[in-house]
Amino acid sequence: MANYGTPAITFVSGKGCIVKDEKGKTYLDFLAGIATNVLGHAHPAVVKAVSTQIATLGHVSNFFSHPQGLRLASRLQEMTGDPASRVFFCNSGAEANEAALKISRRTGRTRIVATQGAFHGRTMGALSMTGQPAKREPFLPLLKGISHVPFGDISAMRRAVTKKTAMVIVEPIMGEAGVITADDGYLAALRQICDETGALLALDCVQTGIGRTGEWFGFEHEKIRPDILTLAKGLGGGLPIGAAITYGAASQLLQPGDHGTTFGGNPMACAAGNAVLDIIEKNSLMKEARNHEKKIKKSLSTVAGIKEVRGRGLLIGIELDQPIAKKIASALLEARVIVNPANETTIRIAPPLIVTSAQIEKFIATFKKVLKEVTHG
Ligand code: PLP
Repeated sequence: MANYGTPAITFVSGKGCIVKDEKGKTYLDFLAGIATNVLGHAHPAVVKAVSTQIATLGHVSNFFSHPQGLRLASRLQEMTGDPASRVFFCNSGAEANEAALKISRRTGRTRIVATQGAFHGRTMGALSMTGQPAKREPFLPLLKGISHVPFGDISAMRRAVTKKTAMVIVEPIMGEAGVITADDGYLAALRQICDETGALLALDCVQTGIGRTGEWFGFEHEKIRPDILTLAKGLGGGLPIGAAITYGAASQLLQPGDHGTTFGGNPMACAAGNAVLDIIEKNSLMKEARNHEKKIKKSLSTVAGIKEVRGRGLLIGIELDQPIAKKIASALLEARVIVNPANETTIRIAPPLIVTSAQIEKFIATFKKVLKEVTHG
């Protein structure tokens, strides 16, 4: 269908942060399938886990459990630090947010407050929470009772959230909107607003989870706990898996029979998830991500033509001082570096967490060169 346009390139293979197209040209992948391949392409641990699993036990349905699913769920529970937390597995970020939406309905309330610019997915429920008019408008009417307030604006959130609000949902960093960050203390303030009104706090860490920001979940620098956490993208290291995780009393909301999905938490995707968590831990990739962040910010923030370098860990937005992000992304592609123009002025990078320092340096040098060429002709 025409929804993605016609892709310019077909990739046929990859190893680590390098991908190869059908003509044999290689590229430095600084997008990782949009913050997804946290261990890069063809990581031996993922290859082994998935191929061993498919050779051992295939799909079993959710009438039965299996060791990889149990292991992944209990590890995620441990990562939350809350023994009362519970995990629902699904297949994508949109589905994880759909689950959050249904959980919120079980509070008996129906209103939701989300933020302008936020991206929560394309299914009708997730799209109703998404705060981007261009994506919403062709599909109106969407779910009723959902309002959007400016991201980062605590007073606006305080005004919007009442004792009728079922759930507040935000991304810790708005990835699709252009790696938009909020001031420190924003999430803690949302926690307080939700505590005062009895609304659930849902944090959509689909893009900011699984080590991407230098911590397991993109909100952890604020030392708060949400009621619902949603994950996908990096969790499967390239295999499709999502999760909605509840904390504390929110774990009691969904009742048997309330929700389900055939493929959610299937053995192959869970095996990949376990391999991803193993390698992130074993190779201290979150610490590495924080170091790479420092290097990228230090090297690029003073470059002419760059207004700001923001984000956390390896989810970085490079804000240009002119609306030339698309031109820069195309020129980088010509130079065999894959990035994403998240909006007119922002280049988003989200390389695999296994990226090497040499590859970071190569990216920085290529970026500077391309920016100079595009801006000076
Ligand atoms: N939430 C966030 C924060 C995302 O970045 C995305 C995808 O970009 C989604 C939800 C939707 O995830 P999916 O495309 O897997 O449905």
